[in-house]
Amino acid sequence: MVKDNGCIFCRIAAGTVPSTKLFEDGEFLCVRDIQPQAKVHLLVIPKENISSLDEAFPVHGHPRHELMGRLLETATKVARQQGLLPEGFRLAINTGRAAGQTVFHLHVHILGGEALGATFA
Ligand SMILES: [Zn+2]
Repeated sequence: MVKDNGCIFCRIAAGTVPSTKLFEDGEFLCVRDIQPQAKVHLLVIPKENISSLDEAFPVHGHPRHELMGRLLETATKVARQQGLLPEGFRLAINTGRAAGQTVFHLHVHILGGEALGATFA
């Protein structure tokens, strides 16, 4: 059970905010982005409240290699399950406000379902 600390993604993980989960296991969940930037725009979210890549790979402390490997694997599996292969999809992890990170709970964006172009949204 995930504790409700006020973070929107923690609330989704805890079930205190209703959501349609496209995927869920003990460690991750997948929902649609509420402000889609592509025809298909999904978020894969670890249930653990890690703020960003900066926390996942700290200067001092334990790097979260295994969790991050499983996060990328889960995103790939979800993208495949959602029919984004073989055409292709993009993963993005915004880190910090200047990069457009708005929720400080680590998540990976899956973008696809159309030709995405060369720029990074
Ligand atoms: Zn959180």
